[in-house]
Amino acid sequence: MEHISFEDSLRVLDSLEQGRLPGPEALASCIEACSPTSHDAGQPSPAESRLLLAELAARARAVATRHFGHRIYLRGLIEISNYCLRNCLYCGIRAGNTRTERYRLSPDEIYGCCEYGYDLGFRTFVLQGGEDPWFSDGRLCAIVRHIKYCWPDCAVTLSVGERSRDSYRHLKTAGADRFLLRHETADPGHYARLHPPAQTWRERVRCLCDLKACGYQTGAGFMVGSPWQNSGHLARDLAFLAELRPEMVGIGPFIPHDQTPFAAFPPGSVERTLAMIAMTRLILPSAMLPSTTALATAAENGRERGILAGANVVMPNLSPKEARRRYSLYNKKLSEGPECAGYLAELKDRLLAIGYEVVIDRGDYHDFG
Ligand code: SF4
Repeated sequence: MEHISFEDSLRVLDSLEQGRLPGPEALASCIEACSPTSHDAGQPSPAESRLLLAELAARARAVATRHFGHRIYLRGLIEISNYCLRNCLYCGIRAGNTRTERYRLSPDEIYGCCEYGYDLGFRTFVLQGGEDPWFSDGRLCAIVRHIKYCWPDCAVTLSVGERSRDSYRHLKTAGADRFLLRHETADPGHYARLHPPAQTWRERVRCLCDLKACGYQTGAGFMVGSPWQNSGHLARDLAFLAELRPEMVGIGPFIPHDQTPFAAFPPGSVERTLAMIAMTRLILPSAMLPSTTALATAAENGRERGILAGANVVMPNLSPKEARRRYSLYNKKLSEGPECAGYLAELKDRLLAIGYEVVIDRGDYHDFG
C-alpha cells in the first residue's frame, strides 16, 4: 500500500465529507494515515496522525450533531440465549467452546427484561442470541407479537443470525422492526479465514439483502483489528457500506476470547475503531451508529470517545445478571457499570459530562438526505 501525505489525507476526508467515496487505494492509505499500524518513511508523523484522527472525528461529530443534535438513543439489549450452532472462529459462545455454560431465557424472563427496561425509559428492545434452534420461527414470532402487544410504543430489534428469507418475512410480519447482522468483513477471502467452510460470505450477503427486501431497518457492521485484517480490508468494508446503505452499523474492536482459535491474536486498536466509526458517519450521515460495548471494554472512556467520533446510540444491557456473565463473546466483556441498564443514571451523567443527552425515544432511522 502506498503512503499518502498529511495534505492528501485531508483531501480524502474532504471527498468523504462531500459524499464521494475515494478509490480503494486512497481510502486504505488514509485509514493508515489516521490510525497507523507502523511508522514508515513517507507517511504522516505520529503527531500528524493524531491530528488527522482528531480532524476526522470532529468532522464526523459535526455531521452527527447536524442530524441528531446532542441526542443519544438508547437500545435495551436482551441476550436471549448463548446456545449457537455456529463456529465463528472469533466468538466465545461458538458451538465448539465446550466450556461455556449455556443458558436460554424463557419468554417470561424476556418479557420481564422488557418491563424493567420500559420503566427505565427504554423504547427499543434488542433480542440478541446465538443461532439457537429452540427459537424457531413460531416461538420467536410469538415473543415478538407479545412484546409489541404489551409495549406498542416500542421497537423490536432482532439479532439472531442467518435465517431463511421466509423466516425473516414471518418475523417482520409478527412486528419486528429492525435486524442486526454484522457482515464482519467485506472481503470473501478474509471472511473465509474468520469462519468455518460451512459459513460463507455469499450467504451472509444473501441474508443482508433479504433483510432489506423484507423492509427491516437493517444493521451491518464489522470488527476492527480481526486477525489478518489490513487497511485494504477496511476500505472494502466502507465501500460495502456505501453500496448496501444499512440503516445501522455496529463497529467494535476485535477482542480475543481465551477459548477460541484466535485466543493468541492481539486486540484491535481503539484509534482505528474510532477512525472507522467516523468515516462511516461521513459516508452514511443518517445511520444509527452505536458506541459499542466492545469499544467501552477496550478503553476506559471508549464509549464517550465513540460518541465524540460520530456515534449516536448506546446499548445498555437489560439481561439478568447471570445471563450477562455467561454471554461472553470476548475476554472481559463489560457487563457491569454503565454497560448495564441498572447503572443508567451513571451512563447519563457520563454522557452529560461530554455534552450529550440520553433521550426516551424509539430512535428510528430517518433519511436526512
Ligand atoms: S458470532 Fe454469532 S453466529 Fe457466530 S458463533 Fe458467535 S453467536 Fe454464533
